[in-house]
Amino acid sequence: MTNPNKNKARILIVDDEKMNIKVLVDLLKDDYSLVLARSGEQALKFSFQNPPPDLILLDVIMPEMAGYEVIKQLKENDLTKEIPVIFVTALSSIEDEELGLKLGAVDYITKPFSPPIVKMRIRNHLRFVHQHKLLDKLAYLDALTEIPNRRRFDEVFQKEFARATRNGTPLSIGMVDVDFFKQYNDHYGHAMGDRTLQAIAGALENALKRPGDMVARYGGEEFVLILPETNGDAEQVSERARCAVLALNIPHIYSTVSKCVSVSIGIITFYPTKILSSAPSAASVMEQADRNLYIAKQNGRNRVVATVMGD
Ligand SMILES: [Mg+2]
Repeated sequence: MTNPNKNKARILIVDDEKMNIKVLVDLLKDDYSLVLARSGEQALKFSFQNPPPDLILLDVIMPEMAGYEVIKQLKENDLTKEIPVIFVTALSSIEDEELGLKLGAVDYITKPFSPPIVKMRIRNHLRFVHQHKLLDKLAYLDALTEIPNRRRFDEVFQKEFARATRNGTPLSIGMVDVDFFKQYNDHYGHAMGDRTLQAIAGALENALKRPGDMVARYGGEEFVLILPETNGDAEQVSERARCAVLALNIPHIYSTVSKCVSVSIGIITFYPTKILSSAPSAASVMEQADRNLYIAKQNGRNRVVATVMGD
C-alpha cells in the first residue's frame, strides 16, 4: 500500500491552544503531512524524530516552555539547527519580531493572520529548503560517477586528518589511477570511457565495507580512498578494491598489463602517534600517497603499493 503522505513535506505545528492548532490544521492538512505538539517539550521531542520535520510553526507564548526557549534549543543542536522555524503569535511589537528573528526564525506571522498569505509563506520557505538541500547534494557529487567529488574529498580529508591527529588514530589515503586510460579512451571512445569510469566508481565503492570509508573522484581517471582508523589493513582493503575493478572484466586490448581494465593504487597509512619530531602536514600525506601511486606505475601497474608514515 502506498502512503499518500510519503512525498509530502512534514510540518510540525506547536501551539498550546487547541483552537489555534485547529485553524492551522484546516489550512494545511491537504498539502502537508502534519505533526502536532501542544507544548515546548513535545515540540523538541518531535523535532528529534527521524525524519525530522521540514518546517516548524512555533507559538511564542506557551506555559512552561516559551517558543523562544524552544528555538534556542533547536538552534544549539546540529540535528535540528537547520530546520526552518516560523513564529506564529499574537504578539505584534517590533521588538518581539526582532527577537524572534535574532534567535534564528526564518519568518514571523502574527495572529490573526490571512490564510492565503500564511499558505504562500510556508510554501516559499519549503521550496527554499528543498532547493537548498538539492544544491548541497549536487555540490558534493561528481556528475559523471555520482560518487563524492574532489570538493567533498577535501572537506572529509581535512576533518579526518584533524581527527586522526587529535585522537592519535591511524588514517589511510589511497590514490587510484586507471591503467592506460588514455589508450582506452582513444580506442574505445569517450562514451565508453565514461561508462567505464562509472563502473569503476561503483566497484571501488562496493569494495569499501566499513562505515566511514569513502571513495571520491579526484579528477579525470583518478580516484581517492579515505580509510579512517585502519589498523594495518589498508593494503588489504586496497587490494580488494584493485581486484574489484579487475572483476568487472571490461576488455582493454590496448593495455599492456592486463586483458581487462585495471587500476594502480598508492596508499599511505599515517600514524600520528608514531611521529616524534615534525608532524607531517595533510599535504605531505597526499604527496606520499601520490608517490606510492607513481611507484606502483613504475613497477608494472595493476598493483598496490602501500607504505606507512611515521614508523
Ligand atoms: Mg500560546
